[in-house]
Amino acid sequence: MQGTIVLYPSPGMGHIVSMVELGKLILHHYNNHFSITILLINGEFSSSPTIISYVDTISKTYPSISFHPLTPHSIDIFPPRSYLAMAFELIRVSTLEAIQSLAEISKRSKVSAFIIDYFCTYALSEAKDLNIPTYYFSTSGAGVLATFLNFPKICKQHTKSFKDLPDTVFHFPGGLPDLRAINMPDPLLDRDDPAYLEMVYFSSHMPKADGIIVNTFDDLEPKAVRLLTDEEWARDVKVPPIYPIGPLIADGGDFHHECLSWLDRQPSKSVVFMCFGSRGSFSKKQVKEIAKGLEMSGQRFLWVVKKPPLDEVSKQTDHTNEFDLEETMPQGFLERIQDRGKVVKSWVPQMKVLSHESVGGFMTHCGWNSVLEAVVAGVPLVAWPLYAEQHLNRNLLVEYMEMAIPVDQSDEDGFVSGDEVEKRVRELMESEKGRQLKEKSRKLKESAFAAWGDESGSSLRAFDVL
Ligand code: UDP
Ligand code: UDP
Repeated sequence: MQGTIVLYPSPGMGHIVSMVELGKLILHHYNNHFSITILLINGEFSSSPTIISYVDTISKTYPSISFHPLTPHSIDIFPPRSYLAMAFELIRVSTLEAIQSLAEISKRSKVSAFIIDYFCTYALSEAKDLNIPTYYFSTSGAGVLATFLNFPKICKQHTKSFKDLPDTVFHFPGGLPDLRAINMPDPLLDRDDPAYLEMVYFSSHMPKADGIIVNTFDDLEPKAVRLLTDEEWARDVKVPPIYPIGPLIADGGDFHHECLSWLDRQPSKSVVFMCFGSRGSFSKKQVKEIAKGLEMSGQRFLWVVKKPPLDEVSKQTDHTNEFDLEETMPQGFLERIQDRGKVVKSWVPQMKVLSHESVGGFMTHCGWNSVLEAVVAGVPLVAWPLYAEQHLNRNLLVEYMEMAIPVDQSDEDGFVSGDEVEKRVRELMESEKGRQLKEKSRKLKESAFAAWGDESGSSLRAFDVL
């Protein structure tokens, strides 16, 4: 062993899964010369049964990966504040112990690197004080990273919350798409949200790291990667060395889901898959409207429906997925569509579905993991962003990667009509535009494989430099 590499993910399942994939990559690439230690923040955000069983499986399958759970903290839900504000609080109160653990580990073995999540920036300065090389792992792409690094500058140019600037548009150099102020990631929309200042804090500290590892690859985001490595811009915005080493995606395990047998019975590339991430749920009214649109489209579909939110608080903390599908759908819908559609509650193994021969399109909330999985599977998209940095991803997908059709969300409360759903599904599956997107997705799939294909692959080279 040449030492250990300590990973410090933020407490969301997606962030932990991505960090574990990075750990696996390091182990594989260096033939187990390093061991991996993962500091695990504990609290209601990270102690769900899914996370506990996931951590358990990884520990058993990969003996060189060990988890070091930090002391659990419970976060007061009063006064009511955003999901992220509470998550940041949990991360903040865990920082001291994380640093003490890092110091302990470094007494026992050489810590070759400390790799942290953007949301775990509080640990950056103290890790540097321990003389441990400290890197970020960006679980989003290069376009989003460029925007994050630019935040502190943009924030200084305005005095109002971005949510109150409906007509303001930010321009980025390097040919990146423009971004409307109201499409900024949620915590940056409102200056009164405690999470706002923390995001600015994270962004302004990023340049102090020894480098940023990014889950993307050169050919997926050539302009953004070029911008991040452009000396002049990097000097102005202060960008540390960038390592695009993606696409890193989890294969979703080997369990079988009944929807895969249903897909086996559908014609090649005929099914539109509809899934909105781990948290993307719609109001009952919106669910019924989507159903109407799907029915009118005449297309085959596989639709993952999450429990409609009861209210804000339950949306954040209720992990049960129980609800009545029949009652949520329009009357008689499930019966009428049974020959060509399937509706599944809560969860399917997405990567397996996307790689299935029968899937020809994907309506997505544009979470970055979903984007990368669609790229690797070569499936074109309809983009319907919901939260976090997904509007940014939508712009990149539509204007820049040219692999998605956007859903019109111009209605004031974001409501999307059944007519619009029908129109976009037909466009994806039946039109010339859809065929062009399919071709683009096929090419991106090839370049995704080439990025790690041989010594000339861009991600492999970036990883070697790192
Ligand atoms: N996951 C799973 N089963 C579940 C829920 C989640 O296997 O019932 C895993 C899955 O591997 C996926 C990840 O959780 O990659 C999604 O995490 P998520 O994006 O939910 O975390 P967030 O960033 O929203 O906190
Ligand atoms: N996912 C899945 N099945 C589902 C919903 C989500 O396997 O029914 C996985 C998906 O493959 C991806 C992750 O969960 O790996 C979602 O991550 P993403 O970044 O797309 O969105 P988030 O959930 O973080 O908003």
